[in-house]
Amino acid sequence: MRNHPPSSIQLVVASRNMHKVREFRAMLKSLPQFDILSLCDFPNYAPPPESGASFEENAVVKATHASVSLNQWVIADDSGLVVPALNGAPGILSARFAGQDATDFDNRVKLLESMRHLLDDDRHAYYECWIALASPSGLKKSARGTCEGKLLSIERGGGGFGYDSLFVKHEYNKTFAELGESVKNRVSHRRKAFDKILTSLESIELIQTT
Ligand code: IMP
Repeated sequence: MRNHPPSSIQLVVASRNMHKVREFRAMLKSLPQFDILSLCDFPNYAPPPESGASFEENAVVKATHASVSLNQWVIADDSGLVVPALNGAPGILSARFAGQDATDFDNRVKLLESMRHLLDDDRHAYYECWIALASPSGLKKSARGTCEGKLLSIERGGGGFGYDSLFVKHEYNKTFAELGESVKNRVSHRRKAFDKILTSLESIELIQTT
């Protein structure tokens, strides 16, 4: 049994990626009315396949499917790295760039290999994140955030996840893996999308208490 204040509202982060969940938990600290759960709290729940053609479509399906199945408020994100010089790859396939069961390390190796022929100017990349908020009655809000930068040819830093040890945000000289979570959480693609759904999250309290 979880311990949470009787007045709290349960909000499920529809992910089993502990890095993502931790970033959401940090951003949701400003909203203490929520008791934050993740899909790790629902081991029997099977998420839908990520078969959408865009980050937005995938985020909306993840949120609405989990919300109806679990009968909970749900926040879901679909995100990835976009490299224009690689025609947008890895894009929506970011988690599976090197294959269905690829690890983050495998994906970074494949990215470095794919970029070997690129000139410095072509190493521009951006992270894109779509966040969707849903209740069992349907989608409430979705929003996009991006973070522009460039990709290094050698990994740097031990923090973060995914492609963070290769990604340097514009105007910074450290990778996201070197900057640490608190800085990343202030400036990331996920933060930018999150800020756009903040008002909707805050209004959940009003819906529930009036
Ligand atoms: P999703 O879980 O299907 O949305 O896939 C997300 C994938 O995109 C991750 O597995 C990473 O490869 C990549 N990604 C998304 N956000 C980040 C981030 O903040 N840092 C590093 N990689 C990310």
